[in-house]
Amino acid sequence: MITLDENRQPVQLNGTLQDITERKRIEFKLQESVERYTSLKKYNHDAIISFNMDGNIMNANPVAVKMTGCPVAGMIGTSISRFIGASNLSLILRSNYEMAEKEINAVRHTDGSETEVLATLAPIIINNSNVGFYLIAKDITEQKKLLVAKETAERMNKAKSEFLAMMSHEIRTPMNGVIGMTDLLLDTPGLSGEQKEYIEIIQKSGDSLLAIINDILDFSKIESGKTDLVDDPFDLAEIVTETVQIVKPLARVKKLDVRMCIDDAIPTPVYGDAYRLKQVLTNIIGNAVKFTSEGGVEIEVRVKEQCANNVQLYFKVKDSGIGIPLEKRQQLFEPFYQLDNFMTRKPQGTGLGLAISKKLVELMQGDIWIEESDEPGTTFIFTACFKLNNSEESNRFDQLQKKNRTASLRILIAEDNEVNQLVLSRMIEKKGHVVDHVVDGVEAVEAVKHNPYDIIFMDVHMPRLDGFEATKMIKELKSSEDCPYIIAVTANAVRGDMDKCLKAGMDAYVSKPIKIESIMHALETYYIKCNL
Ligand code: ADP
Repeated sequence: MITLDENRQPVQLNGTLQDITERKRIEFKLQESVERYTSLKKYNHDAIISFNMDGNIMNANPVAVKMTGCPVAGMIGTSISRFIGASNLSLILRSNYEMAEKEINAVRHTDGSETEVLATLAPIIINNSNVGFYLIAKDITEQKKLLVAKETAERMNKAKSEFLAMMSHEIRTPMNGVIGMTDLLLDTPGLSGEQKEYIEIIQKSGDSLLAIINDILDFSKIESGKTDLVDDPFDLAEIVTETVQIVKPLARVKKLDVRMCIDDAIPTPVYGDAYRLKQVLTNIIGNAVKFTSEGGVEIEVRVKEQCANNVQLYFKVKDSGIGIPLEKRQQLFEPFYQLDNFMTRKPQGTGLGLAISKKLVELMQGDIWIEESDEPGTTFIFTACFKLNNSEESNRFDQLQKKNRTASLRILIAEDNEVNQLVLSRMIEKKGHVVDHVVDGVEAVEAVKHNPYDIIFMDVHMPRLDGFEATKMIKELKSSEDCPYIIAVTANAVRGDMDKCLKAGMDAYVSKPIKIESIMHALETYYIKCNL
């Protein structure tokens, strides 16, 4: 303020200074907050529309403009019901916005089309009063597409597994005749050298065909997660030795030196899936012999780690063969991968062996890899975990070791297929047992009523009454001491089937094509059960 004298001349100037730092800070904060909120809306990937308590739109972001096909100016002041439907708006305004959130699953475009969305409704609360809502709509078209694609892939995978299981069943039944008969023929005295050679060729081709079917089936089963491992006691050294015996003939022909080194510290028995372990070993050792023409194969097994309940074993299979280039090593564990072009290469196989082995080893909490080395040849290493347990199972295991049985058994074969029936009875008769036949489940139940059988070989698929039902009836008919030992015979060599048979009350399981050794193994389980 200016003070003037009598001549109107300024003599004094009065002023005040006001500190506005705080005001500026608040203004700045407010501005920042508005900008943050604007950015959040502007750059959001979801459509955001705000509306008041009458349902009239207050603002919208660029994604909302795109989703509705309507500019912001065209939206403001109009009802949001045109985009989400009148019933949903009335749900919101009747203070049931959580329910509306679930109901809103599409946003309408001005051209009549709809976008599938996942909606969120956020109330706008100012001074403790609800003045409107934000609709946040996420476009889920892509996710939906992915979901549909995933479901389709799963359905197709299931169809594939079912097709493979059915195909294997269909192929295995006639193969039972072919392989079983050649097995019997080879055992016939007086064959000429030439005849024997021909039969052996038939047998080999049958075996390879079966191996391929088994591999494909096995892989698809493991891949779909349907493989459960068992926890039975076994002697590790015995399993490794048995596997080596399988490859010995080929190694002998190729003049390869096969050496085995099994650490004495490995506990016996260990608990696990001996069948699956043998499958991995057969594949790795089999490959080593297959791809080696000079030198030999060394197999080493030792304890990697051991605690009170578990042991982790380390397996090493080293060959002096053709070797595997460094860059190809990882792919080898992929299904159907083989190093040479499969039309030109000599050794036979499906290229599934290593893929199956990897999956099995993983199921045994282990790993498999190829060791880096400058030496010629290949070294496969794998680890696997087994349980250690000293329960009654160990006694059962001891029993397994001692065997001496000569008694002739009375055996019933329930099988509708004539060829299978013939193969099975010849194999059993050769071992000195007495055999009766029936062709369906009804006849099997009748036969059991009138004869004291020791064992029944029960086909699972039979007319009139199938093997499962017949087993159930026989179990009801007989006390547990008198009930014959029932061995399921099925064409589905799938691990899950074994459980199904055992659940149905059957005692053991053999899969077609039936081999003399699997019959012997099944009889063995009977002897053990009877403590013979
Ligand atoms: P398959 O033996 O049925 O073809 P695998 O999955 O067992 O299938 O093996 C895949 C490929 O890996 C073989 O075809 C071969 O090219 C290569 N391979 C596996 N083991 C060896 C080995 N010990 N030495 C050289 N090559 C090997």
